[in-house]
Amino acid sequence: MDQRIELFKARLKHENQSVTAARLAVFEAMLDQEPLTMHELVQRCIAIDRASVYRTAALFEKLGIAERLNIGWKYKLELTDAFHHHHHHMTCISCSETVTITEDDDLERHLIATAANNRFQMASHQIEIKGYCENCQKS
Ligand SMILES: [Zn+2]
Ligand SMILES: [Zn+2]
Repeated sequence: MDQRIELFKARLKHENQSVTAARLAVFEAMLDQEPLTMHELVQRCIAIDRASVYRTAALFEKLGIAERLNIGWKYKLELTDAFHHHHHHMTCISCSETVTITEDDDLERHLIATAANNRFQMASHQIEIKGYCENCQKS
């Protein structure tokens, strides 16, 4: 079985939360996906009622299983780094398309060095590039 599913179950148990079929389904719907809007997430979980998907998403956020990516006044959800390779995003402010930036070791090293230069030991960071995607640049 996927190690990330084991990790997910362990995280729930650790928080005294039971592993329900609905929680597992929502988690699996997010696995290896680009950040999803709640609308998209609900659509990917057809077997689960809308209210449960919302409740489950809120629980995941509380437990650090998923996190929000704010796009203007809206947001998308994705799994946290524990379940997902560390990465960054670029978001189009016009059409909300989200593009994942593939791993960039130079960038990561530079951030660690920048923190160290300011006597900081980096624990985490979030970087988001906002702009206009190729399509929106044309119009
Ligand atoms: Zn766009
Ligand atoms: Zn990074």
